Amino acid sequence: MTKNRKTEKAVEIHEFYVVRTTTGSLPVLCDECAAGDAFMVAPEQAALVTHIPLRMIYRSIETALVHFRETANGSVIVCLKSLTTTRNQIDE
Ligand SMILES: [Zn+2]
Repeated sequence: MTKNRKTEKAVEIHEFYVVRTTTGSLPVLCDECAAGDAFMVAPEQAALVTHIPLRMIYRSIETALVHFRETANGSVIVCLKSLTTTRNQIDE
């Protein structure tokens, strides 16, 4: 339990780091997360933040395990919050 909480805290800190270092537009928030505090980032960034391998992230997108959205320019962004909450399922 304490180990999980530590990990979540670290992810939160990294989230802010990612958002602050993202150039240009404001961070996109996930529509599907009720709390409204879930950032959506590119899978590459999500991999850096969550330490989940990139191909695992793409797989969880394909299987709709996580929230994701296609942006106007055709790239995919993924919900960090759902990714961290489902990481136990995809971390195998
Ligand atoms: Zn979400």
